[in-house]
Order: sequence, then structure tokens, then C-alpha cells
Amino acid sequence: MKPAQFEYDDPQTEDEALDLLARHGDDCKVIAGGQSLVPLMNFRLARPARLIDINRIDSLSYIRREEGRLVIGAMARHTHLEHAEEVAQGWPLLTEAVGWVGHAQIRNRGTIGGSVAHADPAAELPAAFAALDAKFQLRSKRGSRTVSWDEFFVSEFTTALAPDELVAAVEVPALDPGTGTAFVEYARRHGDFALGGAAAIVKLGRDGRCERATIALLSAGPAPVRAKAAEQQLRGAKLDDSSIRAASAEAVRGLRPTSDLHGSTEYRIGLLRTMTERALTKAAQRAASSTS
Ligand SMILES: Cc1cc2nc3c(=O)[nH]c(=O)nc-3n(C[C@H](O)[C@H](O)[C@H](O)COP(=O)(O)OP(=O)(O)OC[C@H]3O[C@@H](n4cnc5c(N)ncnc54)[C@H](O)[C@@H]3O)c2cc1C
Repeated sequence: MKPAQFEYDDPQTEDEALDLLARHGDDCKVIAGGQSLVPLMNFRLARPARLIDINRIDSLSYIRREEGRLVIGAMARHTHLEHAEEVAQGWPLLTEAVGWVGHAQIRNRGTIGGSVAHADPAAELPAAFAALDAKFQLRSKRGSRTVSWDEFFVSEFTTALAPDELVAAVEVPALDPGTGTAFVEYARRHGDFALGGAAAIVKLGRDGRCERATIALLSAGPAPVRAKAAEQQLRGAKLDDSSIRAASAEAVRGLRPTSDLHGSTEYRIGLLRTMTERALTKAAQRAASSTS
């Protein structure tokens, strides 16, 4: 299939892009890596009248540390995140999560901004950003605002972005020393979207008990899910098979993941519970080895 006809702009600066968005808002779509938008256009599930191509805006393509936080420009490609040494050192959850995104060819083109703006509930990075309590910098001609991940992800393929806004960057807070993280998922074939997955962050106290635990799930609902009750349950606990199993059962309580030809709701709940157990176990082992 070929896309419906559209007008095309390739702004060279962020200001030019914001001008175009202010002028054409509802009728246009930003195109970044094109890995989600182009298939949608080819199937005519999306028919934007105009594309604003942000690939030539170099100022949006960076990964850097700012006052301890990691700041990722919207046009940083998945592959940049995957291979950035600084990310592997300070935010290994992101390195592990991005490795699950599609195939190398997709990671070479796909961008961090595109991944969050597309808001696929089965996508890895939105769940990893939810676990890390990331914030999103949004810009328009009207000004800039920073929103937390839970304000940003509204529902399936729906975010808090206004039609004239651009995702400019993602801010990720630093992890405390002695923190262990893990990202696990299950997909039918390598490179497919996950049927279920979990990101976990664990910080152990001096007594070896859990000081802080964070659990985020993908393919668990219309947006990334944070399992707050299970996180709370683990605080102060000794992380062994039994406490992890109990917290994982709590993490999936009340979830109603979609039932489709790939798996029923019941199957997916069981899968998410297993993914949570594995992610927590790995994160706890990594936290223990980083503090020993
Ligand atoms: C075969 C295949 C397998 C894939 N597997 C996975 C997978 O396993 N996991 C996964 O997470 N993804 C997967 N993807 C999707 C891929 O990761 C995409 O790159 C990503 O979802 C979107 O990034 P993009 O830069 O390509 O965005 P685009 O396709 O260019 O845009 C996607 C949407 O985001 C909007 N947008 C893009 N950038 C911005 C911005 N800066 N500000 C505002 N709006 C913006 C666009 O208008 C559009 O609505 C797969 C894709 C393919 C083709």
C-alpha cells in the first residue's frame, strides 16, 4: 500500500518546527524515525495532510548528563541509547530495555521521542521510563512544560501532547548507588512486541532488606502500569522467593490486559506475574552484588 497524498516540510531548527506545528496543528503529524507512522500511513490508518520531518533538527539529537540526571533529546535513536556507555553505567535499565525494541534496523531509525509520543502499551521504553519516574519536556510556540510520565501517558496511543506540541526531551533521575535494575519480557518471536514484560528497580538497605522497590509493567493495560501496592509491600521486606512471589501476585491484582489471538487475559496475567518475579529476582541479585 502507498500512503494518501500529503504535504511535506523539513524544518532545520526547532523554532521552524514549532512555527509549522502552530500553523498546521491538527492537520499535520511530526515524523521522526517513521517506524510506526509510515506503516500506519501505508495502511491508511493515518492520513495526515502534512508531515513535519524533524530529522534535520540536530539540536534534538543528544544524550547527556545534566546535574546528575540523564537527558535524552527526542531525536536520539534507539541505537544511540543502546550503545551509550554513560547510560549503561548509570541507567542500565534503559540499556536492557532498548535491546528488546524490534530489530537492529528498527533501532537504527526509531527515536526516543517517537517511542514515547506513539505510546504503544506494549512498547519497552514507556514502561522503563515509568519505572524510572521520568519526565517529558514538551515545547510549543506557546511555551514549554515538563510533565511526569503518569501525566503524559493517557491511554493506548494517546498522550497529553497537544496538536501543536513537540516532545523535546526525556529527563531521567539518577539512581542511588547500590540499586539493582532489570527488564524482562516475553514475545512469541525475537523482535515482536511483548505479550507481557516487567521493569524492576530494587535498592537494598545496610541490613540487606529492601529499602525501595519499583515495578512497571508493559502490555498490562492501556498505558504503562506502576504496581504501587506491590512496591509498598516490598518496602522493609527481605527479598526472597516467598516475598517476591507474593509481591508479584499483588502486582497483577486487578489488571485486565487485552485478550486477543496471541493470548487470553488470564494467560497474560499469569505471564505478567512471572515476568515480575523474574525482574524482581534479577534486580535484587544485582543490587546485592553492587553493595557487597
Ligand atoms: C517491525 C517493527 C517492529 C517493532 N518492534 C517494536 C518493539 O518491539 N518495541 C517498540 O517499542 N517499538 C517497536 N517498533 C516501533 C519502533 O520502536 C518505533 O521506532 C517507535 O515506536 C516510534 O519511533 P519513531 O521515531 O519511528 O516515530 P515515528 O514513527 O516517526 O512517529 C510515531 C508517532 O510519534 C509522533 N512523534 C514522533 N516524534 C515526535 C516528537 N518528537 N514530538 C511529538 N510527536 C512525535 C509522530 O507524529 C507519530 O504519531 C517496531 C516497529 C517495526 C516497524
